[in-house]
Amino acid sequence: RVRTRYAPSPTGHLHIGGARTALFSYLWAKKHGGDFIVRIEDTDVERNVADAEEKQMAGLAWLGIQWDESVDVGGPHAPYRSMDRTEIYEEYLQRLLTSEQAYPCYCTSEELEQDREKQMAAGQAPRYIGRCRDLTEEERAARVAEGRQASIRFRVPGGRTIVVEDFVRGNVSFETDGLGDFIIARPDGRPTYNFAVTIDDALMEITDVVRGEEHISNTPRQILLYEAIGWEAPRFAHAPLILNPDGKKMSKRDESIIQFIDQYRDLGYLPEAINNFIVLLGWAPSGEKAEEEIFSLAELIDIFSLDRISKAPAVFDTGKLKWMNNHYIKEASLERITELAIPHLVKAGRITESLSESERAWVTRLVGLYQEQLDHVAQIVDLTAFFFREEVVHSAEATTVLAEEQVPIVLAAFVEQVARHEGELDPEEVKKLLKAVQKETGYKGKQLFMPVRAAVTGETHGPDLRESISLLGKEQVTSRLNTFLG
Ligand code: GLU
Repeated sequence: RVRTRYAPSPTGHLHIGGARTALFSYLWAKKHGGDFIVRIEDTDVERNVADAEEKQMAGLAWLGIQWDESVDVGGPHAPYRSMDRTEIYEEYLQRLLTSEQAYPCYCTSEELEQDREKQMAAGQAPRYIGRCRDLTEEERAARVAEGRQASIRFRVPGGRTIVVEDFVRGNVSFETDGLGDFIIARPDGRPTYNFAVTIDDALMEITDVVRGEEHISNTPRQILLYEAIGWEAPRFAHAPLILNPDGKKMSKRDESIIQFIDQYRDLGYLPEAINNFIVLLGWAPSGEKAEEEIFSLAELIDIFSLDRISKAPAVFDTGKLKWMNNHYIKEASLERITELAIPHLVKAGRITESLSESERAWVTRLVGLYQEQLDHVAQIVDLTAFFFREEVVHSAEATTVLAEEQVPIVLAAFVEQVARHEGELDPEEVKKLLKAVQKETGYKGKQLFMPVRAAVTGETHGPDLRESISLLGKEQVTSRLNTFLG
């Protein structure tokens, strides 16, 4: 049975890179009818952030990446939070110490720093020099008596080549002589990432580990740990880096792109667009689907494959993301987009939170006017600004249009028509009134519609004019036109 996991450290909100790892893992498990696990790797306690676990999970839930086992739903391998598993790590740590595959290291950080500097100065890659590797019992006791604290290091066997068989990169070899004995437990007993992840992946029966390329140098260390404990290692897939639109390595401080899933949610991106976009960051379908770009989650489960992940870094293309989100917004129901738009309009002070039925109907029509052109729903606020202004603000183009000589005649005739009209101004009625103005004044086409649009909306282009006038309503249209006519 295929079992995969996403194992975030709770140090921040769900990042696009993390979401991609989670999605790849999820798709691979579901493709095989297997299980997807979310495990919280919180052993790096100094870096933990209070609400990060919750935010990570909320982000995944929003994307529709459903887990089968985790901290909230439990599962056969609970607990799913590393710091709740310390007794388990302790047991395996003792085993490795007893078999002398691990040993206590008493080096101080000053000593280690000096070693590093020497190695760097000599042009060598820094690694532990093995000072505590072969201490006798007496030497250990002496160090303890000095009050030194011990970390636990794994004794890396020398002279071997570890081959990581990676779905993405093929076989990647590492010489154990280059690794250095690495720390598996800190002086306070907390495991390091490499140790905890190995124990957890093994005990949770993870078959396929999917994670970012930045972890590939950890993988030979983990393979050695599997071997030392007598476990079979899982299969690995290391997904390539995601580069920012300039082709530079993305950093969390990079402001050229939005990096966190909840920011996308808050701006009115749709989860299906985000999934579709991130799955294509370093993965592409094969065969008859190779030319396609739009995929639902269900379809992705069907066609996804780890060996189609590319080695080459993926470039984050903001234009493509907008295009994709616009595609999904257009496909979505107007009701759904309206629901998403309402909080933005409320926040901008345009509408109140509790809408009457007729107000809701009006907002729905308003959103409908723009649905086709939204890249993300939050844009609705700026796009609809002219509906809510007390006074019309004329753009430069509108001012030019309104200086044409036929304008007073056309607008006066239109005001007259509107005033005479009884009942609501629905779009069909607006059409008739404009027709009447045309008959009466002899102006038609641009000469008629542009001044009306410019006077009423302040712009020379925009959404459907009849619907806009209808939504503004008789009173607003009349007062706007009268203000202009003076
Ligand atoms: N906690 C690690 C991280 O957030 C997980 C790495 C892994 O998947 O093994 O980077």
